[in-house]
Amino acid sequence: MFADLHLHTQFSDGTYSPEELVSQARLHGLSAIALTDHDTVEGCERTARACEAAGIEFVPGTELTAEQDGNELHILGYFFDIENPRLLTEVAKFQAVRQNRIREMVARLNQAHVPLSAESVFALANCRAPGRPHVARALVAAGLCATLDEAFERFLKKNRPAFVPKFKMSAAQAIELIHHAGGAAVMAHPGLNRTDEVIPGMVEAGLDGIECFHTKHSTATSEHYLEIAERFGLLVTGGSDCHGLSKGKPLIGSIKLPYQHVARLRLRAEQRRAPIAVSP
Ligand code: AMP
Ligand code: FE
Ligand code: FE
Ligand code: ZN
Repeated sequence: MFADLHLHTQFSDGTYSPEELVSQARLHGLSAIALTDHDTVEGCERTARACEAAGIEFVPGTELTAEQDGNELHILGYFFDIENPRLLTEVAKFQAVRQNRIREMVARLNQAHVPLSAESVFALANCRAPGRPHVARALVAAGLCATLDEAFERFLKKNRPAFVPKFKMSAAQAIELIHHAGGAAVMAHPGLNRTDEVIPGMVEAGLDGIECFHTKHSTATSEHYLEIAERFGLLVTGGSDCHGLSKGKPLIGSIKLPYQHVARLRLRAEQRRAPIAVSP
């Protein structure tokens, strides 16, 4: 039995609907999947329903954008209550940040004489957590760029004219928020950040796990983070980080995490929710 614990849908910057994602998961023989859209839980309900119909276990999840020591980090949350009021209030704040950032990016494009409208980006994104990939797609759809890569290279990458930084919560705040909502917190794709020095601070803040297996990790990178997991007593997770068809071929099916890791993660979340036993 295998799982994929890192997947996106059109509720953030993926292209699949929840139903398409689940049918792909079935095609690849996955027993359990987690939905981890950026800064939202909007797609969880529909994905859970589609999973139920397909006989696949659904793990509620999200990928929170955070930072530590000036580095952007992504914190994955799993097995939390998707209706937790504080979690919903917090993600709504960061969704507003993302929406305002789209307006700012479009204003900068307009200053650079690129005639894109914010409305066209919002219409294309059609979700609460829009981001740079939606701006890139809107630029391509309007014939203003030939490819998504061109859009990032010319306008959207850091230090390009339409790049706007995002206001982010700290990694410790993201971890605390996931714990508050009854979940387990995991550092996403550490191999993409290559900032291992932030790990001890996150462990201190209560980090539960680390994503050792990821499409962009080489075997050596996965082994490196398995060692770090062991050293810090962190749980091991993995996922494809599939964004559907938006980045070439779909990645779902490329990471097959042994199911035992899902069971351990669920147990950790349950233990965090359990009242502390007081001895008489
Ligand atoms: P945002 O959260 O709005 O800053 O957008 C980040 C997303 O943009 C990530 O999910 C990346 O996959 C995607 N992205 C970042 N840089 C590039 C790039 N150079 N080409 C294509 N996609 C990118
Ligand atoms: Fe993404
Ligand atoms: Fe990420
Ligand atoms: Zn992701």
